[in-house]
Amino acid sequence: MGKEMIEPQEAWERIMAEVSPLPPRRFTLDEVAGRVLAEDVRAEADHPPFAASTVDGWAVVAGDDSPRRRILSGDGRAGEMPAVTVVPGTAARVMTGAPLPPGADAVVMVEDSEVEGEFVHLTRAVRPGENVRPAGSDLAARQLILAAGMVLGPAEIGLLATVGRFEVWAYPSPRVAILSTGDEVVEPWESPGPAQIRDSNRYALMAAVREAGGAPLSLGIVPDRPEALREAIEMALDQADVLITSGGVSEGERDHIGPLLAELGTVHFNRVRQKPGKPFTFATVRGQPCFALPGNPVSALVSFELYVRPALRRMAGHTRLRRPEMPVRLRHPLQPDPVRTEFVRAVVEQEGDGWWARTTGAQASSRLLSMLGANALLRVPPGPVLPEGTGVTAILITRPEDH
Ligand code: AMP
Ligand code: MG
Repeated sequence: MGKEMIEPQEAWERIMAEVSPLPPRRFTLDEVAGRVLAEDVRAEADHPPFAASTVDGWAVVAGDDSPRRRILSGDGRAGEMPAVTVVPGTAARVMTGAPLPPGADAVVMVEDSEVEGEFVHLTRAVRPGENVRPAGSDLAARQLILAAGMVLGPAEIGLLATVGRFEVWAYPSPRVAILSTGDEVVEPWESPGPAQIRDSNRYALMAAVREAGGAPLSLGIVPDRPEALREAIEMALDQADVLITSGGVSEGERDHIGPLLAELGTVHFNRVRQKPGKPFTFATVRGQPCFALPGNPVSALVSFELYVRPALRRMAGHTRLRRPEMPVRLRHPLQPDPVRTEFVRAVVEQEGDGWWARTTGAQASSRLLSMLGANALLRVPPGPVLPEGTGVTAILITRPEDH
């Protein structure tokens, strides 16, 4: 494949055409947090299964027109079926969550009573149904409670436990092999030689994969040698569902990744008209997606954010793949790139009645500091300078509570 440059939207479409959800598996409830459910779940029975008291107090017959003095006739505890029947003139002690004894139709709170020996005096009138949670009032038998495609959070998992589903069908996390490439790249714990730099990409990408719901697999640094790269790529694809590499996708004579992927599989594109992240090769090898990201640390993370994260989410069964977007206004003038769409790292904040964006300073694709504190990427199409106040689109890359 030659070096055809495609638009970001076209890159998105070519990736999505090749990526599909992984086959669902059965998971136990302690393994499902954050996963996407792959089946519909119904309540098997009414919940609560019995009419229950919602307070600690006295089970009574509300319509009882005897004075507000009742004979104590027994105890009802959570976890026990009541042994007494409540009739007019009597009251049975019940605890929160305990079944309502037969005959009773309301519960008077302890706070609304005074005990006098074998009697209880009710200090206020009681209506039928008061402080009683009827059978089936939370969930009705056969009711659809969770639908395939829902993301399993605390409430969803609580509901699964409530209806007795200790195992459910859900999507697994994609296993993502991460390789750094480059003769100049060394481990973070090493002291770089005169022409070397430390590997930041693999550690940054592992964290990004984890945040996106994937399971990262760190496969080290590979030198710019075709045989070594080929061996590493094949080994990675044996162990993982997805491959991410960084470096070696530009025009240099040591940039072997593109030709290698073309040899091993199909390259779907290798240039995107965007900044940062123009050199970016997407291929499939044996049907497995391979994202060959540029080596510059910001380019690698921005390309991950825009393309790899949504792909991993799709594999994990998500249907909402993109981050939320919102219109914002520029706090200061901005010079767009003359030909490429730029994804500008920015801080978006509410000021007065509007949302405003300021960039994080110098936007060099090597300057990781430009990602620091950024909660948005501004999508800036090519064109003439944009004056302060111009409306642009912000892609929100972190959640508000993370700032
Ligand atoms: P490349 O895409 O291989 O042309 O690399 C572009 C730039 O990114 C070069 O300055 C590399 O030294 C740098 N680079 C490549 N790989 C890494 C890495 N794993 N961590 C940090 N910088 C890298
Ligand atoms: Mg290189």
